[in-house]
Amino acid sequence: MMIIMKANATPQEVEAVIAQIKEMGLAVHLSQGVEATIIGAIGETHNIPTERFEGLDGVDIVQRITQPYKLASRQFHPEDSVIPMNGFAVGGNEIAVIAGPCSVESRSQIIETAIAVKEAGASALRGGVFKPRTSPYAFQGLGEEGLELLAEAREITGLPIVVEIMSQVQLDMMVKYVDVFQIGARNMQNFNLLRAIGETRTAVLLKRGLSATVEELLMSAEYVLAGGNQRVMLCERGIRTFETSTRNTTDINAIPVLKNLTHLPVILDPSHSTGHANYVAAIARAGIAAGADGLIIEVHPDPAKAVSDGKQSLKPEKFAEMVKQVGQIAQIMGRRLATTQGNVQPLKQGWA
Ligand code: PEP
Ligand code: MN
Repeated sequence: MMIIMKANATPQEVEAVIAQIKEMGLAVHLSQGVEATIIGAIGETHNIPTERFEGLDGVDIVQRITQPYKLASRQFHPEDSVIPMNGFAVGGNEIAVIAGPCSVESRSQIIETAIAVKEAGASALRGGVFKPRTSPYAFQGLGEEGLELLAEAREITGLPIVVEIMSQVQLDMMVKYVDVFQIGARNMQNFNLLRAIGETRTAVLLKRGLSATVEELLMSAEYVLAGGNQRVMLCERGIRTFETSTRNTTDINAIPVLKNLTHLPVILDPSHSTGHANYVAAIARAGIAAGADGLIIEVHPDPAKAVSDGKQSLKPEKFAEMVKQVGQIAQIMGRRLATTQGNVQPLKQGWA
C-alpha cells in the first residue's frame, strides 16, 4: 500500500504515518521524490482498509499497489532510480557501457583489456572470477586471485568493477573488492543469495533467468530491495526459445516493458543474448534505441584463446567501433555515453 503525502505535509505528519505503519507490523519504505513524498507500507496489507491512513493529517491519497512486486514498481516510485557510480550514474541521462572478458584469466589479459576498453569509452569493467559453467570440468574461475587482478585494473583505469557472485558464502570476501555484484541468469531465483545481497549496500546487476518472465525478474529484484538495498540494475541477457541460430533470443521487448513497469535501470547484454561476436554490435545499437540505460559487453584481446565465451567476445577494435555507433544512437535518444574520471595510470610493474 502506498500513502502519498500532500505537497505541504510536515515532517511530523510523515513521522506519524510511519509510526502507524510500524504499529501494524508492516515494513516502511520512504521515497522522498522531487514531486511527492510516498510512504510504502509493505507486508500483508490486503486486510487493512485504506481509511486507516486516509484520515491522518498530511495524507493526500492512499493507493494499493496492484502488482505483486511493490518496491520495484513504477507505481510506488514514479521517477527513474539513478544509481551513482564512480564519476557517473546509471539510470539517468547517461548510458553506461560495462565491458571486459567473460573470465579473468591472467594479469596481462585483464589489465590489457581494461586499458583497451577504457580507451574505447567503457565506463565500467566486467570480469568473472567464479564462473557458472554448464560442465563441472570447464574452467571455474580464478577466485580471489582474480579479484586482486580486477582491483589492480581498477586502480590503473579508474573503471569500477562488476563481478558475478554465485553464492552467499563468497559475499564477505567479495564485498571488499567489487563495485557491482552481478547475479547471473542461473542464480536469478537463488532467494538466499538475493536476500544476502539485499543486506549489503553494494550495487547489483541482476540478470534475467534463461526462462524467467519479466514479472519473475521483478519479483527477484524485490527480494534485494526488500532488504533495503536500492542500488539494483536489471539485465536482459536473452531468453531460451525454439530458435537455435543464436545462443539465446534477445527479448528486445523486455526493455520498454521493464522501463514501463519499473523505475530500476535496464542494461542489455547482447553478448550472451546472441552468443556470436558478429551480432553483438547490431543488438547493442537496437538496445539503446529501445531505451536501455546501458550495455554489458564481453571483450577479449584474443577471443580465439579465451577460456570462456570466446565466440561472443569482441576484439578491442570491434568494441571501439561499437561504442562509437552506440554513442550516436544515444545522441538521437537525447542521451550520452557515461565516462569515468581520470586517465589510465602507468603500470607499477611490467607484465607478470
Ligand atoms: C556472464 O556474464 O559471463 C554470464 C555467465 O552471464 P549469464 O549469467 O547471463 O549467463
Ligand atoms: Mn560469459
